[in-house]
Amino acid sequence: MKPVVALVGRPNVGKSTLFNRLTQTRDAIVADFAGLTRDRHYGNGRLGKHEFIVIDTGGFEPDAGSGIYKEMAKQTRQAVAEADVVIFVVDAREGLSAQDHDIANELRRLGKPCVLAANKAEGMHDGTKLVDFYELGFGDVHGVSAAHGQGMRDLVELALAPLNLADPDDEEDEDDVNKPIKLAVAGRPNVGKSTLINTWLGEERLVAFDMPGTTRDAISVPFERNGQRFELIDTAGLRRKGRVFEAIEKFSVVKTLQAIESANVVLLLLDATQGVTDQDAHIAGYILESGRAVVIAINKWDAVDSYQREQIQRQIETRLPFLKFASLHFISAIKRQGLGPVWQAIAQAHKSATRKMSTPVLTRLLLEAVQFQAPQRGGMFRPKLRYAHQGGMNPPVIIIHGNSLEHVTDAYKRFLEGRFRKEFDLVGTPLRIQFKSSQ
Ligand code: GDP
Ligand code: GDP
Repeated sequence: MKPVVALVGRPNVGKSTLFNRLTQTRDAIVADFAGLTRDRHYGNGRLGKHEFIVIDTGGFEPDAGSGIYKEMAKQTRQAVAEADVVIFVVDAREGLSAQDHDIANELRRLGKPCVLAANKAEGMHDGTKLVDFYELGFGDVHGVSAAHGQGMRDLVELALAPLNLADPDDEEDEDDVNKPIKLAVAGRPNVGKSTLINTWLGEERLVAFDMPGTTRDAISVPFERNGQRFELIDTAGLRRKGRVFEAIEKFSVVKTLQAIESANVVLLLLDATQGVTDQDAHIAGYILESGRAVVIAINKWDAVDSYQREQIQRQIETRLPFLKFASLHFISAIKRQGLGPVWQAIAQAHKSATRKMSTPVLTRLLLEAVQFQAPQRGGMFRPKLRYAHQGGMNPPVIIIHGNSLEHVTDAYKRFLEGRFRKEFDLVGTPLRIQFKSSQ
């Protein structure tokens, strides 16, 4: 189990920057104004040979009486509860503030080991500016610069030291079966992504607030089911906020795309009560382009009658024909109905996407297919298909060699695809077939 490190501190001290530095990703939004990163962020951190999970938190606001601030405080508490150690981040340039004291008190109440990091300390060679922070009562103050990557190794080593970690070199290599399947739940706003994820995880993990100025960034949550490890990548992006926060909205689109990119399998969630909208089709298009394995789940099945059910199934056929390879599931996240088969489909999609296909078997199938039905002549030339080999995985790519292959029709390509899919039991993954003609 990777240790969990939570980053806590008031807004703008550089938690997200530190998070990015530790996880080496752009998983958190860094912007020049307070309060943009209000959700919890999970990321995989690595420093030297140590791997850990980092949580970036919204932090405790001083006046956490109501609304979003109360929710942030709740989320932060939950993150701290899950963490093995807390990195308490303060701002070396602004110096000690009343809010820092409040957070210190809260952290003391929660009773987790804490390391105090004074960020933005680049260029501060004497420690005089840091002395005040001893008042917080967390022992040594470590000057770091998240933006410049200074003091990171010491900070992480200090944070992890009390945890008595086993040397990762001593651990056996994990086999593929135990690698987490990275799963992204993609869908437009309100289809029920958070509801489904909360149902899955059995606890509130996402800030359920939906008010202008808050973004719900992609987060990643590791968990296990039936011995299979998953890493859930939520994509709460693509959220329209009127015209006010366009930059944020655009950013959410990017984050959805990034989440799709970094996933092994994408669960595309649709809303049965709304049918298939343009936005659904866009997202589906992105997924297709990414080449990721995909499972489609139509949520809110509990809330539609049989007429609507028929209608949405027809819409999926007509509006998302390019995802025909994906299996289709009807679920209710709220009523916890139909969820089991979705897990099976996800595992199957992943298996299909990573299937190994040997050259002899591919070539035999190809020649059998040709014998069953030869490709049509194109002008003076009849395409000659000679042999096939696998050109890639995730998605699987089959490369077919021969002559005059530029004359192979789309219909014939689909015929071949069908044969290969059937033979290798490929469900839920795109299959790319490429032709290479030799002279
Ligand atoms: P958060 O609200 O605590 O997550 O803070 P952010 O990571 O969003 O950072 C707030 C601001 O501080 C941004 O403008 C960052 O570029 C800046 N910042 C973060 N780390 C450093 C640092 O090490 N040095 C300096 N000078 N600025 C930093
Ligand atoms: P997200 O924006 O995709 O994360 O969607 P939410 O999870 O916030 O859900 C949007 C709304 O749909 C909420 O009011 C949920 O209660 C509702 N909802 C989610 N799942 C279901 C479901 O299975 N059935 C019904 N009837 N409503 C649902």
